[in-house]
Amino acid sequence: MIAVAGFCLLIVAADRYAESNFGTTVDGDWFLLILASGEDELKSFALVYWKSLLSTLAAFVAVMGLISFVIWRWPKISMTFMAAGAVWLASGGRTRFSQFKPAYFVYDTVLRFGDYRHLASVVMKERSIALEPIVNGGRNRLVIIGESLTSRRMGVYGSGKDTTPNLARLVEKGKLKLHPERRATNQYTARALMDMLLDKEHTRVWRDRAAGFRTVLVSAQDKWERYCGIEQLLFDACHERIYIRQRGGEAVYDEKILPAVAEAMSGSEPWVIYVHLMGSHFDPADRVPRTFVESVGIDDFDSYDRSVRYTDWVVAQLVELVGDAEVRFTSDHGESVNAGRWRDPSDPALWFVPEMSAD
Ligand SMILES: [Zn+2]
Repeated sequence: MIAVAGFCLLIVAADRYAESNFGTTVDGDWFLLILASGEDELKSFALVYWKSLLSTLAAFVAVMGLISFVIWRWPKISMTFMAAGAVWLASGGRTRFSQFKPAYFVYDTVLRFGDYRHLASVVMKERSIALEPIVNGGRNRLVIIGESLTSRRMGVYGSGKDTTPNLARLVEKGKLKLHPERRATNQYTARALMDMLLDKEHTRVWRDRAAGFRTVLVSAQDKWERYCGIEQLLFDACHERIYIRQRGGEAVYDEKILPAVAEAMSGSEPWVIYVHLMGSHFDPADRVPRTFVESVGIDDFDSYDRSVRYTDWVVAQLVELVGDAEVRFTSDHGESVNAGRWRDPSDPALWFVPEMSAD
């Protein structure tokens, strides 16, 4: 009883959060709408959402069970506890368990519920609006979103190590403009991306598309698994989405983005291409091909600096590739490098990210 009441309160809190943050009343039945829409991609998203809802409920019951066991020593409570644990596991709880820590739990249950609901309702609405694009949307634009890249480890921002020689060269040539560090709005990819790509009414992609651009996502991140399909929903309105990780069985590095972008640029319509890097995502040691480390001689760098050096190369290649198109480059959030997988929010490096552009 207490558990159910508590859970309902969480949902209400999530709705209030969405309302105060985005000024919209969220359609509570959106996931039923999605299921009814018959679109496989959105269906999978709804299922993931449902699973996370179920996990949260089970986790909550489990915690309540534990508390009442400690207080009342009620024997049946252990049954409840085990049942809740089983539901949790059955609903994909193993993954969730690995992420379980109080801050993340609060973030996930309250904040993300509100965000998911808002995002899903925006996307559903956008799908029903007929676009009448203005012909010739303007200058081509490349939007590069880095991953876990802190400006505090970039030579071009004065880290003291030459981790970004290519970007520094482009800045020197006047090709790239270096803006002051930007402060990330959230330490988690999904929420940071939402802040960057979603406003009250629309997703950023939809706005670009409505302005007459051909829109393409080229992503090095996993489709679906990483954060419950948030990326997919944010880029839902794209004409084309290319996930380089699905293009081959071997280890996939960010440089595979380059041929995909070259392909996306062909054609006569003005385009906006969004690139989502894998960048320095934990574990950064897995992000850089050995051949690259050897060819540029960075054996003495730690694995994080190597990943920054590799991103420097990939981004510089992209900037050269798109010629005189507009370019924007930033990262979702930084990284508290020495804290390992679990980040340290008190580390400024987690919050400061690069901001560069070519106009
Ligand atoms: Zn991230």
